[in-house]
Amino acid sequence: MALLEAVAPERDAPPDPTLEQARQLNARLERWRTYDVLDEMIHGEFAGRIALVSSFGAESVVLLHLAASVDPSVPVIFIDTGKMFGSTLRYREELQERLGLTDIRVARPDPALLLTRDPDASLWLRQPDECCTIRKVAPLARALSGFDAWISGRKRFQGGSRAALPLFEADGDRVKINPLADWSKDDIQSYRRLHDLPEHPLVADGFRSIGCMPCTTRVADDEDERDGRWRGAEKTECGIHLGLAEFEGDGSGI
Ligand code: SF4
Repeated sequence: MALLEAVAPERDAPPDPTLEQARQLNARLERWRTYDVLDEMIHGEFAGRIALVSSFGAESVVLLHLAASVDPSVPVIFIDTGKMFGSTLRYREELQERLGLTDIRVARPDPALLLTRDPDASLWLRQPDECCTIRKVAPLARALSGFDAWISGRKRFQGGSRAALPLFEADGDRVKINPLADWSKDDIQSYRRLHDLPEHPLVADGFRSIGCMPCTTRVADDEDERDGRWRGAEKTECGIHLGLAEFEGDGSGI
């Protein structure tokens, strides 16, 4: 009897509130039109507490156009790693003007960290994971401070870890929304043509997924579009979708 009393009964772990919120949102909104999902997120569920994160890459214009149609003042975070194509920076300016986006926020790497960890700017060649952490993940974690939700442009057809993408997911204490999760490549192209939206200039040159200049290559017709990213390496993701929590605050998680 004494032994039994000494062993505390096992209790179920309390449910993660963000996971539960994502689960409920998936159940409530999974059949809604993409525009309506964005409207509900930007003006309802997360009003004033949500940002869209965009690379202004090959397909970004579709989500940016949808979000701008809902509310052109929605905060849009762009991570300028210092390694972007010049054409991406010019495309960002073009879309800002064309779509009337009024709150584009540029997140940049910490200059002090660059000085100590990547003084000759060649870290991408030796340690791409660390380079992405310093140049992408940590700046985004800082830029999302104060937001309770963020919108990403990932799609299931991009394959890999994205193949089973839900509409809503938990990202630490934030909800992450993937409004285009179930869009096909054809859906994206049809929407872009229907609204006469400009294409990233590098697409016509054979680039179908566009990130930093040193880590992006052209893609052949028989390749998946993300095969051009970190070509020849096992790396397939920069890390911003692998969890931001440890990089928030003063950057000591780096
Ligand atoms: S994509 Fe390449 S250059 Fe850009 S942050 Fe990652 S490793 Fe560095």
